[in-house]
Amino acid sequence: MSEPSIFTRILQGEIPSEIIAETENAFAIRDIAPQAPVHLLVIPKSQDYRNVVELAAGDPDLLSELIGLANTLAAEHADGDFRLIFNTGPAAGQTVFHVHAHVLAGGLEEGRLGG
Ligand code: AMP
Repeated sequence: MSEPSIFTRILQGEIPSEIIAETENAFAIRDIAPQAPVHLLVIPKSQDYRNVVELAAGDPDLLSELIGLANTLAAEHADGDFRLIFNTGPAAGQTVFHVHAHVLAGGLEEGRLGG
């Protein structure tokens, strides 16, 4: 069994953070270093999957649950539109190896990806 991740420790109440939403298998918190007006993290309660590729292969229903929770939160905290980011691997900026989705919303028109 690996060491509890920072997100597991938040879920267990060992590290203070407000859990702003919860489903059967997932929960959400505010990112401590927000990169957008709304910047939330949607996280499986289990730390079995290190990244979204492992999650998609191992439990696609749980991946779907994460996306549904992101959608609900974007409607509650912004206008419903959102950007979903899964940093995958250290070179892509992943620092916590307990899969999580960054949900960015609110005023994203500037600095959008793509042409
Ligand atoms: P990543 O770099 O994609 O692995 O994302 C990890 C995210 O967790 C970063 O955006 C951090 O700002 C965020 N983070 C780290 N510690 C905390 C914490 N205690 N509460 C909320 N967010 C955190």
